[in-house]
Amino acid sequence: MKEILVLGGGAAGIVAAVAAAEADQQAHVLLLEKNPRIGKKLLATGNGRCNLDNAHISPDCFFSSDKEGVKRLLTAMGRPLDWFKAHGLLCREDEMGRVYPYSNQAGDVLNLLLHWLERSGVEVRCDCAVSDIDRKGRGYVVCADGQWLYADAVICALGGKAGPQFGTDGFALDLAQVCGCNIQPLYPCLVPLNCNKKQISGLSGIRVKGDASLYDGERLIHKENGEIQFTDYGISGIAVFQLSGFLKRVKQASIVLDLFPQWSKEELCGALMEKGKLFADADVYGLMTGLVHHRVGLAVWKAANLGKDERKLSTLSREDWGKLAHSFKHWRFTELSPTDWKNAQTTGGGIALSQLEDDFQLRGCEGLYFVGETTDCAGFCGGYNLHWAFGSAILAGKSAAALRKSAPKKPAKASPKKKKR
Ligand SMILES: Cc1cc2nc3c(=O)[nH]c(=O)nc-3n(C[C@H](O)[C@H](O)[C@H](O)COP(=O)(O)OP(=O)(O)OC[C@H]3O[C@@H](n4cnc5c(N)ncnc54)[C@H](O)[C@@H]3O)c2cc1C
Repeated sequence: MKEILVLGGGAAGIVAAVAAAEADQQAHVLLLEKNPRIGKKLLATGNGRCNLDNAHISPDCFFSSDKEGVKRLLTAMGRPLDWFKAHGLLCREDEMGRVYPYSNQAGDVLNLLLHWLERSGVEVRCDCAVSDIDRKGRGYVVCADGQWLYADAVICALGGKAGPQFGTDGFALDLAQVCGCNIQPLYPCLVPLNCNKKQISGLSGIRVKGDASLYDGERLIHKENGEIQFTDYGISGIAVFQLSGFLKRVKQASIVLDLFPQWSKEELCGALMEKGKLFADADVYGLMTGLVHHRVGLAVWKAANLGKDERKLSTLSREDWGKLAHSFKHWRFTELSPTDWKNAQTTGGGIALSQLEDDFQLRGCEGLYFVGETTDCAGFCGGYNLHWAFGSAILAGKSAAALRKSAPKKPAKASPKKKKR
């Protein structure tokens, strides 16, 4: 009987195991997970709703050092959502193309996968940490909880370094290195950013909407529209998460917020002056009423260098109003750095895509696959990461099932002499 080992019971591992078991019903598929249960991270995705795909998949929505590789592998994986539909998951799509289960419950996606694991006869072993891998004959041996298990094919779906609280501590990349993989440097991706504390003083907990643009010096790198959330350490929210993925390649980073993207600076200046006339005796607090949260207004006022907040609006010159309008549209945050891995939704960097065949098999290692977050491809927010995890898993699962069966019939008992490749 063909032995297929799937390492890691996350999004990719679960789907790879089902795909393999369905494609070769004679094979024994064993899924190993170090947590007491599989799918822990999956339950947390999309704020518990599981944004499992996006209708607008394009290589431009992924961070990688190899754009051509992303394009090639996205083409190979096609539409993983069709696999879910074929397995009975009804979905809905929002106005941004984000795809969710119709029930909006991540738990339902996991329950559906649990059903198919059982139905397809996959053996699931939890509380079982993988610690090593080596070649044996034409197959592989994997050390799990001190026991060496033989497999004709191994699918490594151990995740990346993001979200260690879910069980992913970067071990996958250590294992990949042992297998001779070339690893692109890792960085936290889709993560809140630290910034200069003075610039956010008093703003913690406030959310604003607008454009957020990442600059390298004065060069625009990327712009996003959406919600920005202030925290006690910096800035967060989906727009900031998206920009965080570009930070690594920027030398002199700053993020500029435009709180009035639908208005030109001149239009905004005119509107502010009109309001200033109505509130001539008032100060900045009066001006900001109905515009933005008063603490945001005060911070923008400070950034415009307009003096004390008690200053009467009647004393503002035309130039001052221009400065205020500019500040609302170019509110700059500096000293940016990613917060820690715990806050990151995914891992930038990983196994170089050029080392992977179109079915995610490691070149030169028949029967050894690396899928999901371990690879050098991190998606934008919006279902792109799960698209990659599921798409790679389906390909690898089917390919592993299609391999010719090889040598040893029984799991190896003794630890083989390990060779560093
Ligand atoms: C809070 C949060 C929300 C997210 N929301 C979304 C979303 O809505 N949409 C989206 O597309 N993406 C989302 N993501 C990203 C997405 O969850 C990941 O990209 C995806 O789960 C990667 O799948 P994976 O199977 O490669 O890795 P993982 O899902 O991380 O699975 C890896 C598994 O391997 C196990 N493992 C690790 N080491 C060992 C070991 N030594 N032995 C045995 N098992 C081991 C881990 O415990 C884990 O279960 C979110 C991430 C987070 C953290």
